[in-house]
Amino acid sequence: MTSVSRIPVAVLGATGAVGQAFVRQLADHPWFVLAEVAASERSVGKVYRDAARWLEGTLPADVAGLVVQPCTPDSVRAPIVFSALDSGVAGEVEAAFAQAGRLVLSNAKNFRMHDDVPLVIPEVNGDHLALLARQQELRGWAGAIVTNANCAATVIAAALAPLHEAFTVTKVVAVTMQAVSGAGYPGVPSLDILGNVIPYIGDEEPKIETELGKLLGRYANGTITPAAITVSAHANRVPVEHGHTVCLTVGFERAPSVAEALDVLRAWRGHAGVAGLPSAPASALTVRDEPDRPQPRRDVQEGRGMGVTVGRVRADTLLDLRLVAMAHNVVRGAAGGSVLNAELLVASGVVHRETGALQLGALPGTP
Ligand code: NAP
Repeated sequence: MTSVSRIPVAVLGATGAVGQAFVRQLADHPWFVLAEVAASERSVGKVYRDAARWLEGTLPADVAGLVVQPCTPDSVRAPIVFSALDSGVAGEVEAAFAQAGRLVLSNAKNFRMHDDVPLVIPEVNGDHLALLARQQELRGWAGAIVTNANCAATVIAAALAPLHEAFTVTKVVAVTMQAVSGAGYPGVPSLDILGNVIPYIGDEEPKIETELGKLLGRYANGTITPAAITVSAHANRVPVEHGHTVCLTVGFERAPSVAEALDVLRAWRGHAGVAGLPSAPASALTVRDEPDRPQPRRDVQEGRGMGVTVGRVRADTLLDLRLVAMAHNVVRGAAGGSVLNAELLVASGVVHRETGALQLGALPGTP
């Protein structure tokens, strides 16, 4: 058997909560090798083990000694760049990398809603990656930017995608219970969150309300037509370490019975080509029958943090159905989702399997 070399990749914002999740997700990855880490001036020039306050598990030895680089395309050379940057800086930095010919997989909000930028959860709308051809045409970048969704929007979109495909979702009320790790590190002060619930997360509700339509929208001829769904979101911070839980009340064009909804959720496999990728969970969705699941403590590690668990599917008194969905915000909702996007691009030939070079001609619909 011939051995295939791994593609060098970099993480921008590598010292933060999501950056560290990238380091864990990329450890021993079969296709990618983490070759460079970058962060703010505060960290530049330090070795990673000194710059990052390592939060979870064992820091991989081959990353511990990497010297933290500035977030510029001259300093960071990898063809694939995972960005865990704060949104205050992500816009300018990610555009500079895309202009310099790199594939940027971003977790920040800056480009998510741009018409020519794919906002992708691979199982839900992997076909939206085709938008990259339009992005290149419009922007003339040698590289490209692909984004993944807000972490709560990710949970909601994954739970609703099968139901939307089958019955057309029209209205959603989403009440979130979001983990503290969603606020980064050091995040929310302990005296604000211990034994408490904070009924406000800055800028979160508008992200949930706008991103869902794009995520569940249809791609055709270089355009996404957003799904016509009215969303009302209540975002709450709760004293949970990892795992965003969302209570959903949903209205449909054709209301399913509870049994029909459960059948559709159980049968859902998601976008073809995702199953079997290195970071893909064994099941795109896990449906629990127990009346008290999903729970972050019991279910957050489903599919090595990449699973989305749903339960409590029942009839509703105001709209049609109620259900609860939960997933790991830092893995499924951030770093793991980004790595899965990159894997899908490699598997579909849009990124060269050995060099990491972009080959946009491999996208469906390109001449
Ligand atoms: P975080 O823990 O605060 O980390 C922020 C990272 O950005 C750090 O590595 C920091 O480096 C770097 N940074 C800050 N200012 C910079 C600058 N001027 N130049 C270069 N690097 C700079 O935040 P996080 O939770 O990891 O979130 C990162 C991004 O992911 C955000 O855009 C967030 O909205 C998004 N996101 C987070 C989650 C989640 O669950 N946490 C989920 C989805 C998306 P230093 O350590 O050197 O300061």
